Amino acid sequence: MTPLSNSLADADIANVLHPNTNMRQHERTGPLVIDRGEGIRVYDNTGKEYIEGLAGLWSVAVGFSEPRLAEAAHRQMLKLPYYHTFSSKSHEPSIRLAEKLVEMTPPNISRAFFTSSGSEANDTIVKMVWYMNNALGRPNKKKFLSRIKGYHGITVASGSLTGLPTNHRDFDLPAIPVHHLTCPHFYRFGAPGEDEAAFTARLLAELETVIATEGADTIAAFIGEPLMAAGGVMPPPVGYWEGVERICRAHDILIVSDEVICGFGRLGTPFGCQKYGFTPDIMTLSKQITSSYMPLAAVLFSDPIYQAIADNSEKIGMFGHGYTASGHPVATAVALENLAIIEERDLMGNAARLEAQFQAGLQAFADHPLVGEARGAGLIGAVELVADKATRKPFDKLGRAGALASTIGHEEGLIFRAIGDQLALCPPLIVTPEDITEIMTRMGRTLDRLTGAVA
Ligand code: PLP
Repeated sequence: MTPLSNSLADADIANVLHPNTNMRQHERTGPLVIDRGEGIRVYDNTGKEYIEGLAGLWSVAVGFSEPRLAEAAHRQMLKLPYYHTFSSKSHEPSIRLAEKLVEMTPPNISRAFFTSSGSEANDTIVKMVWYMNNALGRPNKKKFLSRIKGYHGITVASGSLTGLPTNHRDFDLPAIPVHHLTCPHFYRFGAPGEDEAAFTARLLAELETVIATEGADTIAAFIGEPLMAAGGVMPPPVGYWEGVERICRAHDILIVSDEVICGFGRLGTPFGCQKYGFTPDIMTLSKQITSSYMPLAAVLFSDPIYQAIADNSEKIGMFGHGYTASGHPVATAVALENLAIIEERDLMGNAARLEAQFQAGLQAFADHPLVGEARGAGLIGAVELVADKATRKPFDKLGRAGALASTIGHEEGLIFRAIGDQLALCPPLIVTPEDITEIMTRMGRTLDRLTGAVA
């Protein structure tokens, strides 16, 4: 047997396949080993401090090492560490959390189904919608509409909904019937001479055309993040969601709001659909639901969907879908405590109150020679690095400047996410005005040092 390595980095390089990672590059550079976290900060195994400017993976709302979440998990572990929810079995934390989520979401939403990840939740949505349309005698109404650069997960179905090339290429995806519409990002996808309203009109005309060409009787649902996050933090153009909602309603196409990042106050409203003024039939919730202290996601959906599924479950004998960990008692208990903290400390209000400062901080980088666009909403945003500001020309080797920025950011004590050459920030919802000032100072230093490095 190979002896265990003394070095964590060596052991990582020898044993781990990392998600979303260039593994050959990783073999050369090794991992950044994070050892502990406190509030908005994390510390690596040499003791170096970083502000976690992305809240982990857009998810640690209440900050790191919140004792109340550890205590909630401990209490539940001692009382009922595991039980399932198959075959009418239930337990208090999953019941109370479903009740709480139905109360928090828009009035047409009436039921919750639990999974462990956002990807599983979106897979569940695909299957629920297919099951429902078969039950309603509409076996052809199965296609999904999604968007280029949308992110909905990485399982076979949710990865198909995702519209990012690196999540498809060589995985043989998409593997379900899905049509990816134009990305609603005006800066990159707006045509020369087109204003934002005309851009929206063009995207809505495209939606109408696709529905007419494919046939509304073949299209089950439209899925979208209210603000596209993991694809590069792109707020929708003005009037976009109102138009999408109007068109989908006219053609009996369900609207799925993937709130995995926008949910629980990220944009200053409880859910992103409220920020942009549309009412979904189905919502995907995860990440900030437990501040990612435990893996948990939920599908929230309307009563007509529930009624069709319930009728069919009686006809067939069951709703034959579910996971060992659906509604896991420790995860749901942690979610309840996490949501209680978000409410008691008014963290959604904090995001709304600090939006202006955070977005102004980002906008201050719009004049930087390397920045093509600074954008965002609530407490999420990005700066997009370009080779030529005037023409918006990207760097030739896309992602090199972003990767370099990440490395410099680490040296400056700031963790953000480089999505190609877009640098995304999404700090924990507990941030203070002073924290935002410090985040922007470290980001500014990073951009200034990057100017020399990419020249
Ligand atoms: N949907 C959205 C909008 C996401 O941002 C993500 C993850 O970032 C997912 C779904 C997938 O969630 P998970 O990584 O938990 O499978």
